[in-house]
Amino acid sequence: MHERTIAELAHGLRAGEFSAVEVTEAFLRRIEALDGRLNSFITVTAERALEQARAADERLRRGGGGPLTGVPVAHKDIFCTDGVRTSCASRMLDSFVAPYDATVVERLRDAGAVMLGKTNMDEFAMGSSNETSFYGPVRNPWDTERVPGGSSGGSAAAVAARLVPGATGTDTGGSIRQPAALCGITGLKPTYGRVSRWGMIAFASSLDQGGPMARTAEDVALLLGAMAGFDPRDSTSVDRPVPDYAAELARPLRGLRVGLPREYFGEGLEAGVREAVEAAVRVLESEGAEVREISLPTTPLAVPAYYVVAPAEASSNLARYDGVRYGYRCEDPRDLEDLYMRTRGEGFGAEVKRRILVGTYTLSAGYYDAYYLKAQKVRRLIRDDFVRAFEEVDVIAGPTSPTTAFRLGERLDDPVTMYLSDVYTIAANLAGLPALSMPVGFAGGLPVGMQLIGRHFEEGRLLNVAHQYQLATDWHRAAPPGFE
Ligand code: GLN
Repeated sequence: MHERTIAELAHGLRAGEFSAVEVTEAFLRRIEALDGRLNSFITVTAERALEQARAADERLRRGGGGPLTGVPVAHKDIFCTDGVRTSCASRMLDSFVAPYDATVVERLRDAGAVMLGKTNMDEFAMGSSNETSFYGPVRNPWDTERVPGGSSGGSAAAVAARLVPGATGTDTGGSIRQPAALCGITGLKPTYGRVSRWGMIAFASSLDQGGPMARTAEDVALLLGAMAGFDPRDSTSVDRPVPDYAAELARPLRGLRVGLPREYFGEGLEAGVREAVEAAVRVLESEGAEVREISLPTTPLAVPAYYVVAPAEASSNLARYDGVRYGYRCEDPRDLEDLYMRTRGEGFGAEVKRRILVGTYTLSAGYYDAYYLKAQKVRRLIRDDFVRAFEEVDVIAGPTSPTTAFRLGERLDDPVTMYLSDVYTIAANLAGLPALSMPVGFAGGLPVGMQLIGRHFEEGRLLNVAHQYQLATDWHRAAPPGFE
């Protein structure tokens, strides 16, 4: 059962080969048996899942439902889930039970998907290794001594290990794409505004975007179709029709113009990663794509601009965790100030505190112009680079991450090296562009991901390219040893 993709499960459910309850039970058993090795789930909602599965079976019996009816999914624990703990992997929200569903959760539920549980992540989505979680690190199923990437590391590891066929993630600077790359799955960060942020716990609001993670581009297309769309409850949600992503997959690649940014193949890129990405580019060429070198000269500015803008927004968003309204509260506060200080001191982990300190500093009087305003101007230049590049090419391709999965603990005391894990992914967030990562081979036995960046709202194009690549290759079918 567990080796089936979402598309295959949907087909079998409709054909009556198995029931949604059988599918759900099979995946729940797998989580029970194998997640001890990975720690990819924070909460497993078995009873609710079986209830939803029974409802899905009923719908299918009556000939209703859509392609996701009866298909199991997991949600990153950053999405609010009605009546279920929503922790954001922080001690601060360890006891928080959300009183409503996030729009993404609601839409997937309405589409008939069965929620198996909530996946582990970096605390408040701050990290690239899933090591900052209050619930302990997630391990990479390809090598359990290594990180799965972050911050959506639980979703990526669970999908790669076939504990669930698809999952949600969020991507503020690479948190869907980088763990997808390090775990050998397919993940998409949609255009900013394409997927509602309502009920998605805020990290950096102008960058955060939820998106799907699965093994194949076809499955990602099915999930995105259900997740995307206008939501009046999110003021940055864009009112624009959702295309039929699955229908766009079949388009041949003949004539597609692919740009390879010179800056994405320079210093710091591991040789094995480069070779796998170059081989993938040759596959696209053999499918009829025209490949040319392009330049994105502002590339070196993306990480520094992001680490001003993201912490600034985080420091503001995280001000709400004050011990008064919900979440963690310190014991016996002496007075209000003591309540604030001890609640936040005890409730947040080290990386979250680092971001709040940096953000508060860059927004403070006297430094605002020098840092925050400057970073916003740089952000505009980065966006302009892409606008220019997309006059020449249809998609931009390159590595997702400069290295394969690194060892647990290896970068924990070195924030700058950790931050550089996202050197190729961050610019797409700053520019609001859709971007996808797909598996394109292995280096030293570890998965390598290739990133495809597209024009605003051209998710369908990215999924189309990834699907055509996956028709010509088998990398997306590889299973981690011990998790086949
Ligand atoms: N790794 C980046 C950070 O730590 C991006 C995180 C994300 O996309 N949520 O901020």
